Amino acid sequence: MRIPYCVKLFVSIVALSFFYSCGKETKIPAANSTQDTGTAQVTTTTSTTTTVGTTNTTTPTSSEPCCKTENVIIIVIDGPRYSETWGDYTRQNIPNLYRLQYEGVRLDSFNNMGTTNTDSGHDAICTGNYENLENTGQVLPQYSSIFQNYLKSTGKPAEKAWVIASKDKLQILGNCQEEGWAGKYMPRTDCGNAGLFTGYRSDDTTLIRAKNVLTTYHPNLMLINFKDPDYYGHGMQWDNYINAIKETDAYVKELYDLIQSDDTYKNKTTIIVTNDHGRHLPGVADGYVSHGDGCDGCRHIEFLGIGPDFKVGAALGTPYEQIDISKTVAKLLNFNMETSKGKVMTQLFK
Ligand SMILES: [Zn+2]
Ligand SMILES: [Zn+2]
Repeated sequence: MRIPYCVKLFVSIVALSFFYSCGKETKIPAANSTQDTGTAQVTTTTSTTTTVGTTNTTTPTSSEPCCKTENVIIIVIDGPRYSETWGDYTRQNIPNLYRLQYEGVRLDSFNNMGTTNTDSGHDAICTGNYENLENTGQVLPQYSSIFQNYLKSTGKPAEKAWVIASKDKLQILGNCQEEGWAGKYMPRTDCGNAGLFTGYRSDDTTLIRAKNVLTTYHPNLMLINFKDPDYYGHGMQWDNYINAIKETDAYVKELYDLIQSDDTYKNKTTIIVTNDHGRHLPGVADGYVSHGDGCDGCRHIEFLGIGPDFKVGAALGTPYEQIDISKTVAKLLNFNMETSKGKVMTQLFK
């Protein structure tokens, strides 16, 4: 049976307008609104599948400087589960991030799609490759990192790129095995008590060290790791685990305030807050105590980006993943990340 042309046209218009409306981002209501963003969260989730493959034609290509950003600070909160951060619609454990989201862009479908352990997760963030790395610091990442590529590209001294971590084993992020890169263009590191294999140190010490480095060296690129949500999770101490999420939430605000009060950084710096991995869902193995498999609790992680080139007050359902951070940082700071398997997260940009 032939379908009349006017019917076909009507169906096409309806389908197109549906597709367009689903692909739009969710605007987060004003901070003082009586509406909670729980509403926005639900709305955003529906757009998750429809925004796949959408391209942002307004973002320039990676070969030309695109961005006002001159510095990128990546803050990795180690191992909180999404259900205790953004997945809890009260946001009771992350009041500072909750307020800061109005300054930037949040991703509601951001995942570690590789090995959900600490070294592998940080490796994925820094090199854009998922590797099943040995997890005590014995093995270096295979490929060059954002720090090495940035330092080589700019010719800047090592002190302009830093890895500062509560966990000593994260010193491996400063080097790699790749031919031509191993032992070269290495950033400065300040990890654990006194470097690799010296043990973990407290997060408040890491915060002080990070602040000192920011004000002393003014690095252009930095990763900061806070360990306590993961540490107390493994310790089966639920109350301390929750407190650690709250404390690291306050640390993010302290760092944000420092950056915005420093003339070198103010309005020229992009801050990314994310995780290396989550933790098991209830009913999976020992639940919040451990992590390391492919359950949604381990994969689903936070992403909040605040900077002069990112959207403001937006929550996106676009599915991006951990390896995409490396390419996005490379775009922000205008260098190449040839060995990264990630992609630029174009939807984050204004
Ligand atoms: Zn971890
Ligand atoms: Zn799991």
